[in-house]
Amino acid sequence: MTQANAAAAANHDLVQQLRDSRLNNGLKHFIGGQWVDGQAGKTFDTHSPVDNAFLAKVAEGDAQDIDRAARAAHDAFQTWREVSGAERRKILHRVADLIEKRSQEIAVLESTDTGQAIRFMKSAAARGAENFRFYADRAPAAQDGQSLPAPGFINYSMRQPIGPVGVITPWNTPFMLSTWKIAPALAAGCTVVHKPAEWSPVSATLLAEIMDEAGLPKGVHNLVHGFGESAGKALTEHPLIKAIAFVGETTTGSHIMRQGADTLKRVHFELGGKNPVVVFDDADLDKALDAVVFMIYSLNGERCTSSSRVLIQEGIYDEFTRRIAERAAKIRVGDPLDPDTEIGPLAHPRHFDKVMSYFDKAKEEGATIAEGGVRVGDSGNFVRPTLFTGARNDMRIAQEEIFGPVLTAIPFADEADALALANDVKYGLAGYLWTNDVTRAHRFAHGLEAGMIWVNSENVRHLPTPFGGVKNSGIGRDGGDYSFEFYMETKNIAISLGTHKTARLGVGQAPAVGQKEAGE
Ligand code: NAD
Repeated sequence: MTQANAAAAANHDLVQQLRDSRLNNGLKHFIGGQWVDGQAGKTFDTHSPVDNAFLAKVAEGDAQDIDRAARAAHDAFQTWREVSGAERRKILHRVADLIEKRSQEIAVLESTDTGQAIRFMKSAAARGAENFRFYADRAPAAQDGQSLPAPGFINYSMRQPIGPVGVITPWNTPFMLSTWKIAPALAAGCTVVHKPAEWSPVSATLLAEIMDEAGLPKGVHNLVHGFGESAGKALTEHPLIKAIAFVGETTTGSHIMRQGADTLKRVHFELGGKNPVVVFDDADLDKALDAVVFMIYSLNGERCTSSSRVLIQEGIYDEFTRRIAERAAKIRVGDPLDPDTEIGPLAHPRHFDKVMSYFDKAKEEGATIAEGGVRVGDSGNFVRPTLFTGARNDMRIAQEEIFGPVLTAIPFADEADALALANDVKYGLAGYLWTNDVTRAHRFAHGLEAGMIWVNSENVRHLPTPFGGVKNSGIGRDGGDYSFEFYMETKNIAISLGTHKTARLGVGQAPAVGQKEAGE
């Protein structure tokens, strides 16, 4: 048995133990510090995308459960908001410690529940811990404001937590994304109701357990499982919930905005993308190739910042696409629990059908399937990493978010052409640029319609930097202090130094009854 086979076998054993010891008991809501069934007693089944076999029974939340959770979060807010930043810091570091301690369990369950390869889910668990540490250290300064002196006044601002917030997350890398939203909310002094995606409920349950064990007071973090149209909708409409942090599809973002209108919800949206990677002929093409291949075929291509459109300068188009195809053909697709696997099964049969449908669309539109374009095996949601060539930017394969390991390659003539193509989509999350011309790099980055741009690099995150999109890719920014701007209200306090003059009204002769005022 090779080392990788032995590690895969050990991971499968661990999953079996966890199925027997925990998943078989079902997944409950966590409300006000208690593990509870839904009030209506309904459940739904979740399946593993490896073989689409039953994984766990999950409590199906509805408006009543959301109401209970929102009330618990509201009650807990009254005390959590007063807990010192230093104390919040300690608790959040304990959460990070426990995530690290249980990272193997988190990684194998996340792989089993989502189909993401274990090699990436290990680092996703580590990043979850890092998210908590990062915001733990910022908790003591979260309320800091500015001093803005004016003639006769001292103005100072401070920030206060907005209140209980709703966090709604997708299924692609659910553990990491949940920590990215929940850690700053708690550091800011908000309480949380989390509604995870119905296709991947397992790791949210682990996170709730970990936060409880770390000593987070009851009701500060609540978890309600369920479907978007019922539990998610009720959360966005609840009057006690002051803001919604949402990661998911663009169309769902529009629904949430409408649903939250009556209660004037503050919203933060991280939505879809159709991110370009632009390769000029003067670039370091070996490095560019590594990055292009990584940014579309890692994480099953189920990644909001994936570079799913590669724009390549005409003179190098044929050779560069040939090299992408060669690499894609060697990518290992298979068991997500095997450390050698690079692409696992797609998250759900419905998503698998969606991704497969683009293979037909590509042919209908006249593009060429240079690599992949087929499923792998007869069961499970496995697809070959795919490359479309001979594509135009107005084709659906170039405009729509496929959210799988599927890359569309488009040639361009010059810089102006590349910029026009890059910007000709409704999305604007990330952009990647490969050139050794530093002046062009800046010029192009300034013109590119995207919230985040990497020059001569794949997506390498630095947590203090702003994360978010423009156009249909989102509203607002996460990261560093940006997250606190969302989870907190800024208050200004103006103190007079007693030197200013207040205009005096009502000190003249009172007008006689019936006498006309001047100006009438
Ligand atoms: P989705 O929008 O279908 O679901 C996301 C969450 O919203 C789920 O928890 C779902 O139950 C809930 N939901 C659905 N309808 C709702 C409603 N009417 N009211 C309230 N909640 C509702 O998205 P998905 O398919 O789970 O995730 C994939 C999408 O997420 C892709 O478009 C991807 O680009 C995006 N994404 C974006 C980022 C980013 O940072 N920009 C990161 C990861 C994923």
